[in-house]
Parts: sequence; structure tokens; C-alpha cells
Amino acid sequence: MKSALYLKFTYLLVQVFLTQSLMANITTNNLKNKTIPTEILAEAKTALSFYPSLKNTPIEFVIKPSMKKSFMKAQPKFSTLLKPTYKRAYLIFINESFTLEDKKLDLKDIPSDVLVGWLGHELGHVMDYKERSTLNLLWFGIRYYFSGNYIRKAERIADSYAVSHQMTDYIICTKNFILNHADLSDKYKSKIKRLYVSPNEILKIVEEQEKAKQAQLN
Ligand SMILES: [Zn+2]
Repeated sequence: MKSALYLKFTYLLVQVFLTQSLMANITTNNLKNKTIPTEILAEAKTALSFYPSLKNTPIEFVIKPSMKKSFMKAQPKFSTLLKPTYKRAYLIFINESFTLEDKKLDLKDIPSDVLVGWLGHELGHVMDYKERSTLNLLWFGIRYYFSGNYIRKAERIADSYAVSHQMTDYIICTKNFILNHADLSDKYKSKIKRLYVSPNEILKIVEEQEKAKQAQLN
């Protein structure tokens, strides 16, 4: 009887301890309406620091065990699509392990700067989504799914946001990593080349933005 009571007490103590540590974990990982898993906390914080205008935007970073087609993906949170635009929340999915054909890329093997650039690109998508109405977003999803041309346009917009938020070096670092990464299949690399903005094009975007700024000043 005594030992049963003792066991119950220990169980209760363990439970209290677990709840406490879980709570501590959640608080450290929450950065004013951002949910960030510990594995990418430092990189997500760095990427977010370039986007002060996303301060009030709820964003959840979610690591998924395996996701087909892409390494990261940004999308509006479906359950908030009917809320007013300023209350809309966004999800950024990150692949824990990205397998394409027989080649594998693990999240833990990606250099920190590359990860920051990748997250910065996804936050560029969030900036773009923020400007869109719900109807426009649904239409965006359909076009993105069916048209390579449209993907290219959307990707360029996301990169342009990253560039205008001073993330050029990170973005180029990420692109070079993908294009030079021996472990990724040629098929994936050629898809990247076909649909995504190249490092050279990024420099062109920088130039364009500089020119636009100069024109505004004159
Ligand atoms: Zn993208």
C-alpha cells in the first residue's frame, strides 16, 4: 500500500516535471506568434530578422519527416483563409530528409547559411501571399500547380523580396549549394535551373532594384 502511494507520488512528480520542461520549450521557441522547432531556431531567427514587417504575422515552421517534390514549402494556413488578411497565418514546411531518386539530403547536413537563405526565400513567399486576397491565393495555388511559367514568376517574386530585404548573399549561397551539391540528382538540378532563379539572375534583380531606387531619388 505504502509503495503504491510512493509510486503514484513519483509518477505525479515526473508528470509535473515533464509539463514544466515542455512549457519551457514552447516559450523559448515562440518568438511573438512564431513557432520554430529547436533544430532550426537560430537560422529561422536570423532569416526573420531581415523581415521586420513580418513581426505581427503568425508563422509556424514545421519539420516534416518526408515531403515529396520540394525541400521547403510556404503556404497560408488553410483554417485562417477566411479571416481578414491581417489575421492570416502561414506555414513553412521543412523536409527532415529530402530524397530524390536514390539521392538523399538531410536537414542536419545543410550548412547554416544555406538554411538561412532557404528560409529567407520562403519568407519572401509569405511576403507575396500577404499582399494577396483569399480568392487570389486560391487562384495562385491552381496556377502554381499547373504552370511551369507561373512557378518561375512566383519564385522570382519570392527571391525579389529576399533581395530587397538585404538577403542577397544568403540567397546566392543557397542557390550555389543546390547547383553544386553532388548528392542531388541531375534531374533535380535541371528542374531547379528550369523553374528557379539562377545566381546570375539574382544579381540582375539586385541591379534592377538599385536602378529603381536611383530613379526614385532623382
Ligand atoms: Zn520558392
